[in-house]
Amino acid sequence: MKSFCARWSKSRNCATSKRACSRRRWKPLDILVAVLLVLVGWAVNAGGIFFNALAVFIMLMVPVRIALILWGVFYGSLEYRLWRKPLAGEIRRYWWQVGNGWIFWLLVGLTLELCIVPAQFAPQEYSVIRMIDWGGITILLLLTLLPGKRIYVATNLAFAVGSIFMATQMARIYWPVPKTEGVILTAPFRGEWLVVNGGRSTLINIHYGLANQRDALDIERIVNGQERTGDRKKWTSYPSWGETLYAPADGKIAKVVSDLDDNPIGQRDDEHLAGNHVAIDMGNGRFVMMAHLQKGSVLVAEGDIVRTGQLIAKCGNSGNTTGPHLHLQVQNGPDFSAPDLRTYPILFRDVTCVRSARPRTDAPFFVRRNDRIISESLAEMPRQNTNTTNNETKP
Ligand SMILES: [Zn+2]
Repeated sequence: MKSFCARWSKSRNCATSKRACSRRRWKPLDILVAVLLVLVGWAVNAGGIFFNALAVFIMLMVPVRIALILWGVFYGSLEYRLWRKPLAGEIRRYWWQVGNGWIFWLLVGLTLELCIVPAQFAPQEYSVIRMIDWGGITILLLLTLLPGKRIYVATNLAFAVGSIFMATQMARIYWPVPKTEGVILTAPFRGEWLVVNGGRSTLINIHYGLANQRDALDIERIVNGQERTGDRKKWTSYPSWGETLYAPADGKIAKVVSDLDDNPIGQRDDEHLAGNHVAIDMGNGRFVMMAHLQKGSVLVAEGDIVRTGQLIAKCGNSGNTTGPHLHLQVQNGPDFSAPDLRTYPILFRDVTCVRSARPRTDAPFFVRRNDRIISESLAEMPRQNTNTTNNETKP
């Protein structure tokens, strides 16, 4: 820490005596800022708004960094040696800081690309959002090259913690899951649908932190790439509303709830999380549940035997939902409120799955946020393979 102390002693605020310097190396403000950053990061992730908070953080940090740099120019506390003597040994620590900042902000950009659902915005709106996000990130990357003389170790550590968190989530999202761990379903809908929540991270799947919904998917019907075609407050503005849903597997109806009201858009039913729902017993302890169904639309009763592709109900807006969509999960029991309920990852077959504008060829497909699932000819699909394929996937 010799060079650190020496630099400190040059600072206008630091006493030159060794004792004073060692006292000043303990920087309460730095530690406070670092702890606050980590705590806020943890809280927004727990609240399911991590990427929304990242977007706000970018917009906040641009003016903060500019103000700090102007302050540094005025008070002479910027470290110009990064440019004057970039290869000098004592400058190395500043380059570590640049690297730390760059890794963080680039991961922020990648995280936002993964998390934002373009279908929820008008195309122009989405362009503006991307411009603000990537513009802000570019500015912050450049400003990292204008460090202050003082290196705030704790704050740097807080940014590193953020990077490790985002990198871990990416690894989890991209790491291939053995298909033997999944349960293969036929898509319970027709047309083009979008996965809004799904995947192996809380960043892209709001259910992932809940043991009883961990592998659940929220899926919406989209038209022209949009989840909504009109007034935000009307059910009928959402293409999902009233869409016919079909049995995604052969089985016996194990649970039906169908008498709950559909919520006005913007209101949720916190008492009945799944709303109207149907659970189909696929055998071998696997139950596929379809939730948020339209009141009165369920066409089956408990005990009925259903075949893949059979009409089940209509997509609605009952339960704890922000708008019409299908919540789909495969679980280990018929009752959604069972305390020991656990879920299994879902694989889709007989569909086209489009990821990043390219159709995938690795069917059956695990899906995640922003994957588009196109199911065109459900009624004509041969059913004879249903059981065989599902049995093959039992753990
Ligand atoms: Zn859901």
